[in-house]
Amino acid sequence: MKTIEFKEWRKGLSELSREQRSELDRELHAHKAGNEVVEWLERGGMLEACIHCGGNRLYRWGKEADLQRFRCRECGKTFTVLTGTPLARLRHKGRWLDYAQALEDGLTVRKAAARCGVDKNTSFRWRHRFLIRPCQEKARHLEGIAEADETFFRESFKGQRKLPRVAHRRGHPASKRGTGKEQIPVLVMRDRHGATADFRLKGTAAEDIEPALRGILSPDGILCTDGAAAYKIAAKHLGIAHRAINLSAGVRVLAGVYHIQNVNAYDSRLKGWMRRFHGVATKYLENYLGWRRWLERWGQGNSPRIALWAAMGWENRFQQVMQT
Ligand SMILES: [Zn+2]
Repeated sequence: MKTIEFKEWRKGLSELSREQRSELDRELHAHKAGNEVVEWLERGGMLEACIHCGGNRLYRWGKEADLQRFRCRECGKTFTVLTGTPLARLRHKGRWLDYAQALEDGLTVRKAAARCGVDKNTSFRWRHRFLIRPCQEKARHLEGIAEADETFFRESFKGQRKLPRVAHRRGHPASKRGTGKEQIPVLVMRDRHGATADFRLKGTAAEDIEPALRGILSPDGILCTDGAAAYKIAAKHLGIAHRAINLSAGVRVLAGVYHIQNVNAYDSRLKGWMRRFHGVATKYLENYLGWRRWLERWGQGNSPRIALWAAMGWENRFQQVMQT
């Protein structure tokens, strides 16, 4: 806009009603937040090669949704930093940081929608897109003492139109903990550095647990569990050093270091945090587990900007940038 036009336009400001002013205010805020998102994405982007063919002769080719677009001399295709990522083609960048904050706060779909001024379907879609990459981050190696324990989640077909079986009556308790078909076991493993992995299991027998334990401990690692026979069998079969804590006999700690208190504390934080969702659909259970792992990884150090990079799959990049 030319300076003279802008002067004219600004004169109109005094004629705005209070509602119009706050609307304008929101617009400007969203605009500013959108610029911040663009800046932050481009800072993390580090586009050095064509995402289509890997060619490294790139040149600038205009803009797309406020982001720098590149064109590849090799294949002639264009892309931006968002092309092919979970956040590609999502609209309203000005609300992304607010949404990231809503995820850190563990808001339900509905509450996140209200806070960010988007509709419920958008909120649902965004949650999924923002969490795809963080959910893939799971410890693949545990060092030293690794604590393992199962925790259970009630099976739920929430959100599914056709129930595979007769629906529960509200408040009707699921069958006995860990033994009925309606409880989904999850094995949580955590070392003393806080590295965490979790696995949805088919059951709690040795053959269900064994695949999760295979190869995850360091060669000198020691597995700590409760006294369940399944762990003993699986550990023996895999040749893993194992200490079983006989909780039912009142033993909590062996030799001053072997216990499962860290993993139990993790499980109870997980359960406490999940309560707000009032039972999660079993088909999405792993997304919630991943969401929680992500929150635990960053703890107090989390921020909407970190969450945005995490959504792009740049968690490690962030740590690199911060360390140097
Ligand atoms: Zn190319």
